[in-house]
Amino acid sequence: MKLPIVAVIGRPNVGKSTFVNRLAGDKQAIVYDQPGITRDRTYRPAFWQDRDFQIVDTGGLVFDDETEFLPLIRQQAMAALVEASVAIFLVDGQFGLTEGDREIAEWLRRQSVPVLLAVNKCESVDLGMAQAAEFWELGLGNPYAISAIHGSGTGELLDDLITHLPPADLLIEDDETKVAIIGRPNVGKSSLLNALLGENRSIVSPISGTTRDAIDTTIQRGDKTYRLIDTAGIRRKKNVNYGAEFFSINRSFKAIRRSDVVLFVIDVLDGVTEQDLKLAGRIIDEGRAVILVINKWDAVEKDTGTINEYKKEIMARLYFMEWAQIIFVSAMTGQRVSKILNMVDIAAESHRRRVTTSVINEVLEEAVSWHSPPTSRQGKQGRIYYGTQVTSQPPTIALFVNDPKRFNDNYRRYIDRQFRDQLGFTGTPVKLVWRGKK
Ligand code: GDP
Ligand code: GDP
Repeated sequence: MKLPIVAVIGRPNVGKSTFVNRLAGDKQAIVYDQPGITRDRTYRPAFWQDRDFQIVDTGGLVFDDETEFLPLIRQQAMAALVEASVAIFLVDGQFGLTEGDREIAEWLRRQSVPVLLAVNKCESVDLGMAQAAEFWELGLGNPYAISAIHGSGTGELLDDLITHLPPADLLIEDDETKVAIIGRPNVGKSSLLNALLGENRSIVSPISGTTRDAIDTTIQRGDKTYRLIDTAGIRRKKNVNYGAEFFSINRSFKAIRRSDVVLFVIDVLDGVTEQDLKLAGRIIDEGRAVILVINKWDAVEKDTGTINEYKKEIMARLYFMEWAQIIFVSAMTGQRVSKILNMVDIAAESHRRRVTTSVINEVLEEAVSWHSPPTSRQGKQGRIYYGTQVTSQPPTIALFVNDPKRFNDNYRRYIDRQFRDQLGFTGTPVKLVWRGKK
């Protein structure tokens, strides 16, 4: 089970590490056991009442400095915030409100994470109240007067904090791989679901989806659990009241959003249709991992070259998904259906994967030394300062450059390919975010 994350944000010297040490005590940093992961941030286990969580100190955040390393700290804070269920913004009550606090507050207000404002170094109760009051103007709600050294005031803050953590029973779901079976009507989604269930005897239980738009089934294979999200089963009943097109597309969109990996089912007899392209566009927009399941392979007359011809034709239409794995199956005869979940494992792993900043920068350095960024007609050359992965699912890498406009599509595709080739992100989209100096 993955514990929810609490991010501690604030200027240098406000008492962040003192606060984190107080909460986490001498408990060791959390070491993630997924292969290939060494994080740049340290997560310490902590708890309050009956809730366990992990707390991460994001480093001193400063906005008004030109030093080269500051964007990196900021990026780390941003990355921590993306994962966090709640943020604690720590300020120094003895020092009073600063311009830096205002800047951080403004930045935090633009994030979607709930923020609790804690005014530290308020040892004396009466004075503390007065010190804390000054911070109301940050517009982040009630300032909690605390002392990280003495522990006073932290109880109330933590009582509030745990109300923002996701319910404990929701977190268990994280161990499942959520797989949506998506495709136009009649491509064979129900048949495929049945074939998958037939292959994997240990069905846990059919679960009615959180919405009535899909029927979820959980299956177990080895030590892995998969939640299959099927949109086909209830289609016909709903069609009575609403247009078929509206519902099938809309329900598919919802299922895509809930999934980690999409089994994108395509009828080999029809090829890639306009409707398929519409679904593909949505899958891309949502950043999901994809397996192209080309169904009804039994119905095709074939010789040795046929698969490659079909593959070429399909990938030409779905060129923007060139990274997706592709498999030709027959849901009817069961041909190759048993291979699908292996592909799901690979795609789900890539989709969740985190790569350290140092590895990313090694790849970048190598890439730039083989092929330097383009130079504009005015002789200005693009420069990449460094890159860092800011989030996963899908893997998203921020690249800090002198000016994003200096990197044309060709060069961007080159860098994208380098990340794929060197880091092996199989079956998942990878987002590159090009950021300029400002
Ligand atoms: P960080 O840079 O935000 O991690 O800050 P530190 O935790 O290193 O603390 C900076 C300084 O503030 C240290 O000298 C701490 O001893 C002091 N400090 C931290 N918490 C408190 C507090 O609750 N009261 C007082 N008076 N000083 C504190
Ligand atoms: P759904 O609407 O996407 O759920 O599609 P169904 O699973 O209901 O299948 C639609 C039609 O395609 C049915 O007549 C199936 O028998 C047929 N079908 C499904 N899979 C295959 C396959 O692998 N080969 C062939 N030849 N027909 C299939």
